[in-house]
Amino acid sequence: MEKIKNNWESIKNKIEQAAFKSGRKASEVTLVAVSKTVDIETVRRAHSLGINDFGENRVNELLSKRESLPGINWHLIGRLQTNKVKDIVGRTTLIHSLDRWRLAQELDKRGLVLEQEVPVLIQLNISGEEQKAGFKPTELGEVLAAAEQFKALRIYGLMTMAPLDPDPERARPLFRELFQLRQKFIDRNYKNVNLKYLSMGMSQDYAVAIEEGANLVRIGSALFH
Ligand SMILES: *Cc1c(COP(=O)(O)O)cnc(C)c1O
Repeated sequence: MEKIKNNWESIKNKIEQAAFKSGRKASEVTLVAVSKTVDIETVRRAHSLGINDFGENRVNELLSKRESLPGINWHLIGRLQTNKVKDIVGRTTLIHSLDRWRLAQELDKRGLVLEQEVPVLIQLNISGEEQKAGFKPTELGEVLAAAEQFKALRIYGLMTMAPLDPDPERARPLFRELFQLRQKFIDRNYKNVNLKYLSMGMSQDYAVAIEEGANLVRIGSALFH
């Protein structure tokens, strides 16, 4: 368990340095601790160190951990099947992985039924890899404009995943592109859209992502293993 404390200390230092390089404070960057590979006791330990945001990529796993630890922020970061929409709406702080239009419609419908806003990030496939989920960058304008029709869905930013690569520098252009996409649309004042979050960077590349403007980083193995 001391391992987590040491990992957290070194992650905090790296976040601080990277934020400084981008002209920001560490407090402007939120760590989402990706707990998909660890048990609830380990989550409790991380929470006791001051971590309040946790991410899971499966709905069922998120819901069962959330039942044990309800008072903190649970983020859904993985692909969401439409048949799980009814289970997750109202039970997550933020869905990072809105990757298709049909899903947006289902989330909106469910939010309307529950009379609850549904906060999401739009996942973009910046790298263009076939197997990656997400909208194409060229589709973003259309999606944001269409968000006007939603009753419950609220778009709070953008998310992307860089290809796995031991050299984080290779992810930098993709992170820069996500930042620039946000800049392009940030002042357009679409209804139901507030592009305040950029969720990018994982264990391998979070320092680079923060240097390029990330304010949500999703870190699993660097914290827990
Ligand atoms: C697992 C996962 C992460 C964390 O990955 P690590 O390399 O362990 O930090 C981040 N984002 C998503 C979408 C994931 O599925």
